[in-house]
Amino acid sequence: MTTSMRVLVVGAGVGGLAAALGIAARGHRVTVLERREEIVEPGVGTQLSPNAFHALDRLGVGSAVRERSSFIEELRFMDATTGERVAGMPLTGGYRKRFGNPYAVLDRRALHQVLLDACRAADGIDLLTGRSVAWYEQTDDEITAVTDSGRRFTGDALIGADGLRSAVRRRLVGDGEPQVSGHTIYHSVLPLADVPEDLHPDGATVWAGPGWHVVHFVHRAGGAAFLNLAGTRDHGTAEAVVGLPLEKSHVLAQFPELTDAARRLLARGEEWKTWVLTDRDPVADWTDGRAALLGTAAHPMLPYAVQGLSMTLEDAAVLGAVLDGDARDVAARLKTYNALRRDRTARTQLVARELGDRLYHPAGPEATARNTMLSSLTVDELYDKVSWLHGAPDFTGGDGR
Ligand SMILES: Cc1cc2nc3c(=O)[nH]c(=O)nc-3n(C[C@H](O)[C@H](O)[C@H](O)COP(=O)(O)OP(=O)(O)OC[C@H]3O[C@@H](n4cnc5c(N)ncnc54)[C@H](O)[C@@H]3O)c2cc1C
Repeated sequence: MTTSMRVLVVGAGVGGLAAALGIAARGHRVTVLERREEIVEPGVGTQLSPNAFHALDRLGVGSAVRERSSFIEELRFMDATTGERVAGMPLTGGYRKRFGNPYAVLDRRALHQVLLDACRAADGIDLLTGRSVAWYEQTDDEITAVTDSGRRFTGDALIGADGLRSAVRRRLVGDGEPQVSGHTIYHSVLPLADVPEDLHPDGATVWAGPGWHVVHFVHRAGGAAFLNLAGTRDHGTAEAVVGLPLEKSHVLAQFPELTDAARRLLARGEEWKTWVLTDRDPVADWTDGRAALLGTAAHPMLPYAVQGLSMTLEDAAVLGAVLDGDARDVAARLKTYNALRRDRTARTQLVARELGDRLYHPAGPEATARNTMLSSLTVDELYDKVSWLHGAPDFTGGDGR
């Protein structure tokens, strides 16, 4: 029998809202504490693989997210220095049949809004903004989140979904600042209407060059289409940079070897912003008694496996499923959640790092060997490679190697 708990969720990003939905569905009361005064996400395109939809279905919002999604037909891998198409993985018939859900692109704001609307409509979820949690303290019986201004919120469990520089993680794991990867990403989103028709891209395309790569795809929001452009270069930069605006000329100068069509596309970008990407080494235990981490706070990863959001949604689905018991054994239930999630998320963190060096950024003979290997794979073999991530509706390791 379920005894209702009071659960504190720190952070109202995709992870915090998804967790609140999963927990409230078990009959618990949830208080979400969000630092920002207004809960709004940036309007950028994001990619969701079938495993994310399995999680969204479990959280009861899969249909609403599918309604706002575009379903691209192919993930394409190009050699950016020769212009050669190396491989393409179809995302239609056989892919959907094998993985049980589509691969989609959508506006991150739309995904967040679906979760926010569902939280507002759910019984038992309070959303409190302007509450920046500084730390937590716990006794045998309860746990208290303390905000920067000294306000206290007490519950039976606390979930830290407070992102990359999580205050909850600082207290729970205490592993300092995230690791700077040295990889700088440049990002621009622009209306597709501003791009000449002969340049309109389809699918999601990666252009791989020596020490750098460029990704583009189109997402739709509010009846319009938007082109997402992201170029990444391994500069070995030691300092973290977060959302710094940059001139277009500076961005184009980072990718001088890019071949003509992709270069013309990149040149359409406006209002560029840059980040230096960070992640962390996996940790085995993200729990401390009545506290646990979720999403980026638990397992920050480089974006190369395109799984940050998907893993976060999986966490929320699993957490909801394990919190179906008595408030008295909450610590044991959080340990179960951690045990169910840590191997899969750790593997994804490490694979994401490896993809940067081994798939996207090789040069010379290593790039040639990569192209030979990728172009020799059949469609089914490509599916085998991603099956442990895109499949796995139980959100454990999946069947891939
Ligand atoms: C460049 C880039 C591209 C990406 N592209 C993709 C993609 O295409 N697909 C994909 O699956 N993933 C992608 N990701 C990863 C994805 O964006 C994240 O993994 C995802 O946002 C995780 O959500 P989250 O809720 O855990 O954290 P966040 O989205 O960071 O949310 C954290 C929330 O906590 C709040 N908060 C922070 N501190 C406190 C505090 N002390 N007290 C209270 N509230 C607090 C914040 O205001 C925020 O609302 C990308 C990441 C990057 C960097």
